[in-house]
Amino acid sequence: VKTIGVLTSGGDAPGMNAAIRAVVRTGIYHGLKVLGIYRGYNGLIHDEIKELDASSVADILQRGGTILRTARCEEFKTEEGLKKAAEVARKHKMDGLVVIGGDGSYRGARDLSKYGINTIGLPGTIDNDIACTDYTIGFDTAVNTVLDAINKIRDTMSSHERTSIIEVMGRNAGYIALYAGLTGGAESVILPEVDYDIDEIVDKINYGIKRGKLHHIIILAEGVGRAENFAKMIKEKMPTLDIRTSVLGHIQRGGSPTAFDRLLASRMGARAVELLMQGATNRVIGIRNGVLCDVDIDEALNMKKTIDMELYNLTKILSI
Ligand code: ADP
Repeated sequence: VKTIGVLTSGGDAPGMNAAIRAVVRTGIYHGLKVLGIYRGYNGLIHDEIKELDASSVADILQRGGTILRTARCEEFKTEEGLKKAAEVARKHKMDGLVVIGGDGSYRGARDLSKYGINTIGLPGTIDNDIACTDYTIGFDTAVNTVLDAINKIRDTMSSHERTSIIEVMGRNAGYIALYAGLTGGAESVILPEVDYDIDEIVDKINYGIKRGKLHHIIILAEGVGRAENFAKMIKEKMPTLDIRTSVLGHIQRGGSPTAFDRLLASRMGARAVELLMQGATNRVIGIRNGVLCDVDIDEALNMKKTIDMELYNLTKILSI
């Protein structure tokens, strides 16, 4: 292995830059040439590729987003697009490719590996919805961003004795909602993975009012529905309740990565290069119980991740 490439694909996440830096510096440390591919698989098809040296990744460890840009690429899903990408990779004598992204990006990496380009996937998404790993790069930062927002919203909600619904990201998964809800002291956490009972929520608000609580914070995962609709449902049962909604949106995708995400990205980026040097292909890196591991992409795509019910139940116990 002499030349490797790195790209970011799908939705961006804080810590992707830290992972790029780790891939580039580890590669150069071991005497490899490292190529940066721009705009995900688009850059591979259209030859938007630049060699990265050690200083080209200086000063990015602490930055959100991705210096390589990211994109979705429909053309890559076609046989023709895939062939073009493989040709460009061969032209650059790329023996290995590190793909930082989610499940969709791994499907692309798997297809490309069939064309003889060794591929390794890294889990980069704030949603934490990748089954082969306990944590994804960007998740911890997003949770901390939500936590900061909860703290601020709580101040004003307490002053006015209001109920608040905060809608958070996570696509079809409730990890951000669960972790931020638990650590932010939310009264109710609504996740796509667990059925909710609107009457139970209403009872809890009423009980909270009786016990003298100054506010009631509901964290709603976007995978369940919109905050506005949820507020309407509660309003129907409690017409006099002063209820406000906040949709946090894309602030959750940006910001300087936390120490946790920088550490995760640095370790995973370095491991990806080591795996490529060993001739590995078609694998995704994960972390389980604090230990790095790697899993065959097909196996990883078939794995299912379940929400930690112990944590979910804890949110209920601690918010009585
Ligand atoms: P994520 O990687 O975050 O899951 P996407 O699902 O949007 O994001 O996938 C990112 C890119 O990966 C797509 O734009 C496409 O180029 C590639 N990709 C996704 N699914 C496939 C597939 N089934 N086959 C080949 N490439 C795919």
